[in-house]
Amino acid sequence: MEVIFLRVALDTPLDTSFDYRWTLTQQDGVAAPVPKVGQLVLVPFGRQEIVGLILDVLETTTVPENKLRDAIAVRHDVTPLSPDWIALCQFAADYYQRPLGEVALPSLPKNLKVSKTVSLVRALKKLAQLPALADATPIAEPVLNSEQQGAVDTIVGRDGYAAHLLFGVTGSGKTEVYLQAAARILAQSVDAQILILVPEINLTPQFEAHIRARFPGLLLSTLHSGMAEGERLLHWIAAHTGRSRIVLGTRLAMLASLPRLRLIIVDEEHDPSYKQQEGLRYSARDLAVWRARQLQIPVVLGSATPSLESWHGAQSGRYRLLELHERAVQKAVLPVIRIINLEQEKPSEGLTPRLIAAIRRRLDKKEQSLLFLNRRGYAPVLACDACGWISDCNRCSAHLVLHKGDHRLRCHHCGLEQRIPRSCPTCGNIDLQPLGRGTQRMEESLAAIFPDARVFRIDADSTRLKGSAAAAFERVHDGDVDILIGTQMVAKGHDFKHLTLVAALNPDAALFSQDYRASERLFAQLMQVAGRAGRAAQKEDGNASEVLVQTRYPDHPLYHALMAHNYRSFAADLLDERQQACMPPFMYQALLRAEARELQTALDFLQQAAACMPHPAMTINDPIPMTMTRVANRDRAQLLIESASRPALQAFVKIWIAELRSWKSRVKWSLEIDPVDI
Ligand code: ADP
Ligand code: ZN
Ligand code: ZN
Repeated sequence: MEVIFLRVALDTPLDTSFDYRWTLTQQDGVAAPVPKVGQLVLVPFGRQEIVGLILDVLETTTVPENKLRDAIAVRHDVTPLSPDWIALCQFAADYYQRPLGEVALPSLPKNLKVSKTVSLVRALKKLAQLPALADATPIAEPVLNSEQQGAVDTIVGRDGYAAHLLFGVTGSGKTEVYLQAAARILAQSVDAQILILVPEINLTPQFEAHIRARFPGLLLSTLHSGMAEGERLLHWIAAHTGRSRIVLGTRLAMLASLPRLRLIIVDEEHDPSYKQQEGLRYSARDLAVWRARQLQIPVVLGSATPSLESWHGAQSGRYRLLELHERAVQKAVLPVIRIINLEQEKPSEGLTPRLIAAIRRRLDKKEQSLLFLNRRGYAPVLACDACGWISDCNRCSAHLVLHKGDHRLRCHHCGLEQRIPRSCPTCGNIDLQPLGRGTQRMEESLAAIFPDARVFRIDADSTRLKGSAAAAFERVHDGDVDILIGTQMVAKGHDFKHLTLVAALNPDAALFSQDYRASERLFAQLMQVAGRAGRAAQKEDGNASEVLVQTRYPDHPLYHALMAHNYRSFAADLLDERQQACMPPFMYQALLRAEARELQTALDFLQQAAACMPHPAMTINDPIPMTMTRVANRDRAQLLIESASRPALQAFVKIWIAELRSWKSRVKWSLEIDPVDI
């Protein structure tokens, strides 16, 4: 019997790998298989048994004999994870300052990690039946216009790594470019795999249906967080074994195992959902670019409003800029965007007379209107006029939001819920007033103003049940809705054929946000929601689609750029500002956050962290309370570190974090590289 040692990565915060003993046995004269790098292994850890990833198979170990434990079982039924996949996880681990095990293991389907093989066996069996996933009625591909054709040719025209920014207004046919580039690559090699990342799959089943219809013979895997574990395993295995040729997924699909990956597409690359906001705070978009370089394959980042990082990348020549200037459907033109000055036209119930008249006109023509209000609930706060009481959350620095339908006050940050009080808790006044308006209140007002119209609301509250979002969008597509009111959920990727009026009811708040990225996001959101209008061919009567924006600041440069559909000038101005203020993408940042029962405890911790390691090439700012200081009875503060050099920041943070870890402080802290919400 021969003894070897397995070096294993485990999903623990300890920044190390662990060695286990493995005894090679014989059964009936046949040697048991030797474990391989990239296989999963069940090991004892403390009093538990957990699954780890084999990083190395060794003949000796430095771990003393009395500390060594035996590994329990090796998963031989799954092909080992490839060295390039492990390298991807290692890169993410190093870059985001987490142990490898905390990156690699959580990215695998849960059912792969249970010690029982039942579900795996079932999944492997099901794999044989997977072609059923692929049935769809084939549709022909449209003939590309010359800009689209040029883009496809550039993307597939060269071997090796190249990053492309596909920049084109909504409806300019970016999706078509993705699909035909994918088709070319799939045709070039019989086993190529394509990864397509989207911000949200549940909200845009159209996209998936489209891919299926275009590639009816191929296996498609989808990967997103809403999947049942069994299903997730099936799709993951199909990708891992190379069976599925196309993988469509949200950010988590970036860490899927794809042995024959030949093209990566990141649709709506500017979307904030590509950034994970807890645990491993990675950017799937950034990892996509790294992965493409690692594998020497093309990557396409597509958007009508690219992130400033990507735009800067294209301007500086790191990315190739591919531009689509016009809407792809003949005669479909961009909607006219107009500003309604709220200082001059007084709204009632949040709607100006001009907007009401515009909705009325669309109703008369049996066309749809979409009203965008990025605030769910009935009213953001309930107040007492008599004594000044307002509905604050006692656990957070936030108001409790009034949800009228189910008679609740609800905190959108910690989830606290209360019944709506009958009278003021401090003075007993029974006449409590909702202040401001959310989508529920707008829905109520619209129903009152347009009693003959079918008003419909789509937001996180109205679509809480699984499948209800898809059903809701189906209603709009089917023309069963005249006026749609919704949050940014309605801005995403939908192609509503009867929609000719889009209005932003109250977008101003983001103009003056503390978060310097707020205006970049607002512009993208408004362009995207505006892009829902006029996607079909324009009617002969010259009745163009229109977009109305209600604002108190009609002269704000953001609205001017919006009216001119001019992302370029908007981005150029913002980049100038960022450069002058030494902000990203001209500066690299890391953000240390701390939380404690008392704000001072968190601040003290950050103060110590700031002082412990002075460094000439780092700007270490003062610790400050976070804008939303208190959430769920914890006070939160942050410390921003900046450097003009990314490698310098990386090198510094690595030693710095090791130092902080050694403190064993009871303050809960976390580090984010390239933070987006500051
Ligand atoms: P984007 O992704 O840029 O918003 P899409 O790819 O969804 O745009 O295209 C918008 C519409 O134009 C879709 O209905 C699509 O089928 C159509 N389309 C795209 N390319 C062409 C083309 N070359 N000829 C005709 N129609 C096209
Ligand atoms: Zn009162
Ligand atoms: Zn709260």
